[in-house]
Formats: sequence, structure tokens, C-alpha cells
Amino acid sequence: MAGKGESILGGEGTVSDFWKMPLEELRNQAAVETLRRHGRKITYVVNRNANFTRVCTVGCAFCGFGKRPGSVGATSDRIDEVLARVGQTPWVTEVCLQGGIDPTLRPEYYLDLIQALREAFPWMHLHAFSPMEIDSLCEKAGCEPPEMMGKLRAAGVGSIPGTAAEILVDDVRRKISRNKLPAARWVEIVKAAHQAGVRSSATILFGHVERWEDIRRHFEVLQRVQEETGGFTEFVPLAFVPYQNRLGAILSKRAGGMKVLEERIRKRAMRLYPLARMVLGQSIPNLQTSWVKLGVAGAVESLGWGCNDFGGTLYEEAITRSSGGKHGEGLEPEQMESAIRGAGYEPQERSTLYGSVKKGVSPRRKVLSPSCRGAS
Ligand code: SF4
Repeated sequence: MAGKGESILGGEGTVSDFWKMPLEELRNQAAVETLRRHGRKITYVVNRNANFTRVCTVGCAFCGFGKRPGSVGATSDRIDEVLARVGQTPWVTEVCLQGGIDPTLRPEYYLDLIQALREAFPWMHLHAFSPMEIDSLCEKAGCEPPEMMGKLRAAGVGSIPGTAAEILVDDVRRKISRNKLPAARWVEIVKAAHQAGVRSSATILFGHVERWEDIRRHFEVLQRVQEETGGFTEFVPLAFVPYQNRLGAILSKRAGGMKVLEERIRKRAMRLYPLARMVLGQSIPNLQTSWVKLGVAGAVESLGWGCNDFGGTLYEEAITRSSGGKHGEGLEPEQMESAIRGAGYEPQERSTLYGSVKKGVSPRRKVLSPSCRGAS
């Protein structure tokens, strides 16, 4: 089986088999392949988000998080406010920093924020700024991605989230997010990061207007980047959350109701995860589920569809919740481990870059009440 997924770009009897395969057979093959590659180990990371600004001028139709400047809730945090929030969970090994595109935040803010976090919490890995944010930083600073990546790396960025990928096909991007950076620019920025020694995740936003052909093209783009740089740490499929955004309202009406749309998204997930394992798994071996999108039960189920990573504890998570995500934020490691064990797997904490975690470096963990986990 290993040879079959090696390339989706050609070769007799290769990828088309997976794209056309009956679902049950595809899932069985994905489960076998995951077991062969990862055994029964399921990794996770102890992390939090720090969503430092909700101000955004981009206006993606699928987003409930970004707020137009001047509208209710359009606020950006001061650096000391971000530090205070991160300081509520000093034991995390990773902070993921992402926000809207606030035209008033200067590049210095981003660099100072990273430096301040690095000084205050030197044991935390800073997984910071999407390609969309880096594109905006380049524009504000009047420089190209390699120079900006050099600055971010020097300030303390350890890796970047490969978000803002959505679907890497411009026709689809224009339908759901017409002001977002083009697919080629996303690729350019991610490659610049990898070439600067800053690795990234790779994502896809699925379950909206995309066709399977678009998903196939998205996979091809990711595979080409990975063949060139080897910089992707994992692939993270992100299911569209339709409850509190313009796109969800349009698509649920078209589908004949929210329940029908939910079922469509779920069906797409059930095929997309095993496809990702079989088609991309040779070049990007780590496939991450998302409990904030699918729920804990859905994430556990997806372990049988090819996933080998449970994602993060996410003590602060505002982006999915702002679109009406129903699964909350902040899952304690014990809850995560219990869910993983309950499904017959062996949980293992990891670092952001899939290494082992040094014990005793960060402060001891407290179990938080839900009220002090998040920002909003
Ligand atoms: S997805 Fe990001 S860029 Fe798009 S509107 Fe939301 S915050 Fe802004």
C-alpha cells in the first residue's frame, strides 16, 4: 500500500484509485496505513491560542471572528494584555498567535509581541502569524516575505500556522474570501518560511462550496511545496463551521436547512481524512484531527479515518467559537488522554514540531475553571 500514495501527480493505478474508492475500503486502507506508520500512538500538544485582534478588513464570508474597524467587538489587545492572558496558563508548551488584519497594527507591534512573550515565557514555542498576516506585514513594512520571515524568526517565532489556505484554488477563494491573498502568494510565503528554517502546518477549509476536484488540486499544491521544502509538520483539515457567518446562512438556505448542511460537512469529513492519509501521508505523515470543529466524539471517530494527532488543549480558542462552534475551548490533557485511551490508542504528549516534551521546564499545571480559560 505504501507505494500507492507516493504521488498524486501521475503513475498508473495510483491516486485515482483512492479518489474513486468506495468509502469503506478507503477508510480500511487508511486505518491500516496509519497503524503501519504510527502504531497505536496518538499525539497531542499542550497549547493555547492568543487571538490578539478581532479587527479585520478582509471580510471572509466563512468567518465570524473578524470585525470591521469601528464595529461592535472590533478590539485589539495591548501587548501587556496578551501577556496577562498567556500568563494564566504558564504550563503550555505552545502559544498560537493569530488575529484579524488590523490596518492600524504596525509590524513593530508583532515583533514586540513576540519578543515580550519570548522574554516572559522562554519555554513556550511561538507558533505565530498566518500567511495572510505575514502578507499584510510585508505590505506594511515594504519588504518581501524572506526578509519578513528573517525578522520574525530573529524575534522568536518558532513556526507558523498554515492557515488562510482555505482551498488553494483561486476560483474557489474568490467565492468565499475575495480579499484574501491569492493561492500563489500563500505558497510563496509558506516557502519563504520553510526556507528561513521556520516550519509550518498545512491546512484546508472544507465543507463549503469546494468540489472534490478542488480538494485534489489543493492536495497537489501542498505536495509540491513539501517535495521542495519538506517544511510542513502536519496536515490539519478544518471543517467549515456554518452557524454564525454569511456563508453558513447562504449555504444552509441552499441546502434546505442547517441539518442538511451539517450532514454534508460530516460526509465530506469522512472521506477527506482517509484521502489525506492515503494521498498526502507519504509526504506529510502527521494528520491532525480537530476536536473544536468535530467535537471530542467526532475527533475520536476520526482516529479510525487516518488521523494520528489529536491537536491541542486550546485553553483559549475564539475563532471557531465565533462562528458558532459548539464544542467550546480548553480540553485538559487528562480528558484528551482518556478519550484517546477509550478508543484503544496510546496518548503521547508532543512538542509543536513533533519532538518529545522536556518535563520540568514549564511551571506545574493547574486545572482551570472554564471562566478563566479564554479571552472573550
Ligand atoms: S478569516 Fe481571518 S482574514 Fe478572514 S475575515 Fe476572519 S479574521 Fe479576517
